[in-house]
Amino acid sequence: MRSDHASLDLEIGQALNGFPINLLKVYPRSFSKVNGLTYGLIRIPQGKKLAIVGDKPAILADPFRGKIFHGPSVLKLCGLSSENTQCLMSLFPYTKPIPLLNLKLTTIGTGDRLGVATPGHLRAVRKFHARPVLAQQSVRENDQTGRNYQGVVRDAAWGIFQENYRKGYGADGDHLKSLHEIKTALDAGVSMITLDLSEKLNPEAFQDSGEVIERKFKREISRETAKALSRCFLEKEFHFEGPHGDCRIRFTEESLKRNALLYQKAIDFTEEVFEWIRSRKGCRSAVDFEISIDETPFPTSPENHLFFITQLNHRGVHVDSLAPRFIGEFQKAIDYRGDVKAFREQFYQHSLIAQYYGNYKISIHSGSDKFSVFPEIGKLAKDGVHLKTAGTSWLEAVRLIAQKSPVLYREMHQFALSAFPEATKLYVVTTDLTRIPRLESLRDEELPELLEQEDSRQLIHITYGFLLNAKNREERFLFRDRFFSTLNQYEEDYWSRLERHFGNHLISLGVKKEKVHDSHQPDIH
Ligand code: ZN
Repeated sequence: MRSDHASLDLEIGQALNGFPINLLKVYPRSFSKVNGLTYGLIRIPQGKKLAIVGDKPAILADPFRGKIFHGPSVLKLCGLSSENTQCLMSLFPYTKPIPLLNLKLTTIGTGDRLGVATPGHLRAVRKFHARPVLAQQSVRENDQTGRNYQGVVRDAAWGIFQENYRKGYGADGDHLKSLHEIKTALDAGVSMITLDLSEKLNPEAFQDSGEVIERKFKREISRETAKALSRCFLEKEFHFEGPHGDCRIRFTEESLKRNALLYQKAIDFTEEVFEWIRSRKGCRSAVDFEISIDETPFPTSPENHLFFITQLNHRGVHVDSLAPRFIGEFQKAIDYRGDVKAFREQFYQHSLIAQYYGNYKISIHSGSDKFSVFPEIGKLAKDGVHLKTAGTSWLEAVRLIAQKSPVLYREMHQFALSAFPEATKLYVVTTDLTRIPRLESLRDEELPELLEQEDSRQLIHITYGFLLNAKNREERFLFRDRFFSTLNQYEEDYWSRLERHFGNHLISLGVKKEKVHDSHQPDIH
């Protein structure tokens, strides 16, 4: 049985009719029938709820927890709690995150600091030959927003259900630095681990004089290892061929020693983590495993990359993606800064190395808004890349606030200016506050333009935690409640913005469009 959109709305309306609830909105894509019961998301003044409608015996047998109402049929209204999320994942398995970096297509980490952006992300991604990693937060972000991994996965799962997206999505414990953090994320059900090695690298290996390197190498690297390294790397040329030209890499004795000192601890730790995950999960493919070396004080050269990955290969460590630090600047929320031609060359070399040593993906962190290099990236990466964005959905939310609630925006902007010095301890940016136009000089309708200007864009980008947590003397939130209620009120606007914004990213990367059938239709099982 199929029905058009309007009659579906009518059907849902009728099913919910006669119950003492103040129905504000239904989310039609979410509605489906399973085992004689109708399941779907609705909004009432208390927030979003799962509504289940059917006859009494079926409702009583259903495992979701909620409040039961008797009317023409029986309605159960359920909160989006962790327990109910477990029920959701077993009844609708596509709401559970899965590993997907091995698919030969582009994956996009959408990152949703607020927990309300998923429907917009899905509306963008479903139109392309790509898959989303929806839940993707670092420990730093969770600390800033007061969330945890369980909540992050939960929010994504309900967003998936709302949009009825069945192609699979990922959940990424991003920038994890210890086994403890990894365990917490895995316990919460993430399908991807991004291991951040920045604390295990030894950047001095690239600053010390040749003499010091000699001394340190003798002291820290065993003879046996030194021999093995020479055999593996010296007096040979690593040669990679690809459709856009060849790449050749040679190591000198000194460069080899520097690489060994730089990566030694990181390689040991990666092996430890890999084995730990494998023993816990039973096999290596149960979780996507990404290595991030992007938050380092120096760019990752193709030579560094090659050294690091061959050493991991020797130890039987398999990675699904690797995030190098690229040359030039990949700052948060603004376009690439640097020599595009040089970037292109190095990116190509990185992707050739990745294809040769396990065909893992190159992961691009701080990937939002890099429109001047996206087309090159899309052309050069054979089976797609993993593009990570983190704060861009937050910025789109603030842009909406600037448009819909100028008073609130002005207060937030002012507060962000005062929080800026603290925020720069957490994020590296080159923001110049003096270039930001003064608020008093701007008319309300000019406020959204502040989100175009690079300095104010970065100002808002890095102060999210301060803004969301700010409280007054009575311990009440200064902005949080008004912020979320405005966002909820204009959620469709928010999702349309995100659809456009992420769509532009995928178009710029050259990702193929996919035919979308109308998923407003109900699914009858
Ligand atoms: Zn990163």
